[in-house]
Order: sequence, then structure tokens, then C-alpha cells
Amino acid sequence: MITVTAVGEMKALVRRWKAEKKTIGFIPTMGYLHEGHLSLVREAKKRADVTVVSIFVNPIQFGPDEDFKKYPRDLEKDSAYLMKGGADYLFYPDAAEMYPPGFRTFLEVHGLQDRLCGKSRPGHFRGVATVVLKLFNIVGPDLAFFGAKDAQQVLIIKRMAVDLNLDVEVVTCPVVRESDGLALSSRNAYLSSEERKAARVLSVSLRRAEQAVAAGERDAAKVIAGIRSAIEAEPLARVDYVEAVDPTNLEPVAEIRGTVLLTLAVFIGSTRLIDNIRLSV
Ligand code: AMP
Repeated sequence: MITVTAVGEMKALVRRWKAEKKTIGFIPTMGYLHEGHLSLVREAKKRADVTVVSIFVNPIQFGPDEDFKKYPRDLEKDSAYLMKGGADYLFYPDAAEMYPPGFRTFLEVHGLQDRLCGKSRPGHFRGVATVVLKLFNIVGPDLAFFGAKDAQQVLIIKRMAVDLNLDVEVVTCPVVRESDGLALSSRNAYLSSEERKAARVLSVSLRRAEQAVAAGERDAAKVIAGIRSAIEAEPLARVDYVEAVDPTNLEPVAEIRGTVLLTLAVFIGSTRLIDNIRLSV
């Protein structure tokens, strides 16, 4: 695997691959990689000739009181992991390379960016959309792979790709979970062992809601209340939001019909975790 840190060098490689008619599969990440990230790498390897992973902890998607400074970083471990996973190139720019002095252009995906996580994290998706568009312009992917754990993020990136006529297919990959159901996340590293146990409540409450719907419950308010009360029963957990939404536009639904996204954000101690499940009835 080859690590590239300069935008110009990455673009020169991309020009060569395009001239050779090679397809490019791309996985943007913030590093501190886990099996969830690797599942995206494996999918990219199946579907594209060259697999490029980026690691960039993007400062503009963090709010002033969020964890940008303490976000976990371990380049050595990540590189070894990516080599094992078979990635061909790692794009690893620093903040000055991505946002040189004078940077002033930002991308907004109105409506979608303000709901769910966007309500609790104002400016977050503006930062995400901006960096992903920049990365797409640098890496020139034919295919880009994102995890369904960040359902709002994928929807926003898909919308952006359509709205801006990008020549990239945005592929959604399934959520990878620990054996007890907890969705893998770099932020799980913040959890103490007590908190790690408490964090099960995210997936357990979603699973129970799924069972309630399978048993015939169709009232979204009741499904949400069930999830909330399960989370509130866990002393280390605090609900940020629990919502049942239309997965195409993130509008809240009153009834569980067709395809519905049940999605939540929960603080376990001071760590904010997200999870979701798609129901089709
Ligand atoms: P991050 O490094 O957290 O920004 O994530 C980079 C990419 O990996 C995003 O597309 C995430 O949705 C995806 N990802 C993170 N966790 C998981 C997971 N548990 N399962 C599948 N994909 C994931």
C-alpha cells in the first residue's frame, strides 16, 4: 500500500489510472479503523480496479465543544490494518493541505442537513458535504463506499452526487456490529467498561422495536416511546434523539408503513453514539 499526503500527487495518480481506464473505488474515513471500515474496503476491492482509502479527521465537521482534538488517531495501526485489508492507496492529507489559508467555499444540502444529527450538531453536515466533495474531486472515484450506520450522511452524499451531477456511484454498505449488537465505531474507544456494557442499549432497544413492529405495532409514537423508555432505564445513557423517518427525505412518519428508518443518537456518559435500523413492512 502506498501512502500519499499531497493533493497534487494524488491527482497525478488519478490522471494515470483514468488514462489506463482503471476504475477507482474510494472509502473516506476519519481513521482509527475497525472492521466496519474494512468491510467497505473489501466491497471496493470486489468492485473497482484501484482501492483508495482516505484518513482525514476533518476539523470543519466538528463543533467548537466537540471531540476534534481528542478524536482517536493511530496512523501506524491503521496502515497495518489497511495493508491487511488489501487497500492499494492511503490518502492522508493534513489540515493545511485540505484547507490552505484563504479557504472560503462550503457546501450545504438544505433540509437534509438540518434534521436528526444536524439538529444536535449544527454545521456538521456542511463540513461533511464540503470535505467529501473535495475528496471526490481529488480522488475521482467511480464508486464511493459508505456505511449505513451513518444513514443521514449517506443520504446527504447521495443527494449531493445527484444534485451536482457527479460521476460517482455512492454505495451503501451494511452496519457491522460487535457480537452483542453494538455498532462498531471509532468513538467506542472512549467508553469505560461500564459504559461499554451500557452501550448495548442502543441496538437492543432498536431490535425490540423491530420485534414490536413485526408483532403488528404500526404507531410510530408508540415505537419511539418504547425505545426511549428502554434507554431511559439505563442509568449511564441519555437520549439525544429517537425518530422514525422516511429514509428518502428524513421526514418524521406517524405510521410504520413501507420502509421506515428508526434512528437514534444517545449519550453514554459523555460519548455520543448513533445507530439505526431500516424496517420494511
Ligand atoms: P468514520 O471514520 O467514522 O468517518 O467512518 C468512515 C466510513 O465508515 C463511513 O462511511 C461510516 O459510515 C463507515 N462506518 C463506520 N462504522 C461502521 C460500521 N459499524 N459498519 C459499517 N460502516 C461503518
